[in-house]
Amino acid sequence: MNRVYNFSAGPAVLPEDVLREAAAEMLDYRGSGMSVMEMSHRSKVFDDIIREAEADLRTLMGIPSEYRVLFLQGGASLQFAMIPMNLMKNRVADYIITGQWAKKAAKEAALYGKVNILASSEDKTFSYIPDCSDLPVSADADYVYICENNTIYGTKFHTLPDTKGKPLVADVSSCFLSEPVDVSRYGVIYGGVQKNVGPAGMVIAIIREDLITEDVLPGTPTMMRYKTHADAGSLYNTPPCYTIYICGKVFKWLLNNGGLEAMKQRNEEKAALLYDFLDSSRLFKGTVEPASRSLMNVPFVTGDKELDAKFVKEAEAAGLVNLKGHRSVGGMRASIYNAMPRAGVEKLVSFMSEFEKCNG
Ligand SMILES: *Cc1c(COP(=O)(O)O)cnc(C)c1O
Repeated sequence: MNRVYNFSAGPAVLPEDVLREAAAEMLDYRGSGMSVMEMSHRSKVFDDIIREAEADLRTLMGIPSEYRVLFLQGGASLQFAMIPMNLMKNRVADYIITGQWAKKAAKEAALYGKVNILASSEDKTFSYIPDCSDLPVSADADYVYICENNTIYGTKFHTLPDTKGKPLVADVSSCFLSEPVDVSRYGVIYGGVQKNVGPAGMVIAIIREDLITEDVLPGTPTMMRYKTHADAGSLYNTPPCYTIYICGKVFKWLLNNGGLEAMKQRNEEKAALLYDFLDSSRLFKGTVEPASRSLMNVPFVTGDKELDAKFVKEAEAAGLVNLKGHRSVGGMRASIYNAMPRAGVEKLVSFMSEFEKCNG
């Protein structure tokens, strides 16, 4: 077996302990005589799995009782439509554009109503988070939307926007469970789990109860109504059972490793190793304004496309894989999610330092 250090933005690295446990339970899950992949989602065994997963997530994030936790399919991208279909009572919503994912979400919402762009960082290739302390929030907006961590550009909202009383809707796909959050500040927090939590194929949406209503846009399919899934405890139809099971294991791994406070500290230390190196390097440069830097996704460049390609190739040969930047921006990107060990970041930094000596 030869495990590599996997810097993929998603699907991404998972904790090795979790993978080992899942392997051990593959053929016979706790005396059931079958794999979790093979069992009925209506069985007692699976019911315990999904309930425990939700309870552990509630503990981890300190989710208040008036919030519902939904396990949904369709990836983060289906939420781009479900959010307006369920929340746009006035058919008006305000979006803050900090990258491609927010842009896609705004474009989708515009199919259903009026979308106001409150702020954007597109003028500088999304390399910063705009000041959102006093935005012209629309009086009739149904919600204010952000992408909290911008996976492609490597920026993060370190201060949430002042939404002037409107519900805040946040896509946290790439910063989910990376640090503590105050759930009560949001109307909806949602994220695709394949970045920092589990296997692909599922979104977790944490929604304030009063936002889950029958009053949705006409024509909203049953499967796209939050109420359908809230009323059925995420078991309206067959859910992604195996993904829920693995996410549950990751929640336990996080709880056993000190919870989100400890995770934040580890993530800050890992990110500092890389950012400190970038700030002192003669060859490599970070592409994000320091105040807006993400702890999870770290883009960098040499300034020379051929040298970038050489770096990615040689890094891969050294067991540091998936460092190529997003196809829309080029350069490199190291995604250093919760499950990336500190040793992986240390190895990356020492490899970069060697590469600089040979190519600088
Ligand atoms: C990856 C990503 C998405 C898209 O996720 P899918 O599950 O592929 O639809 C959306 N938003 C953010 C911030 C992401 O990182």
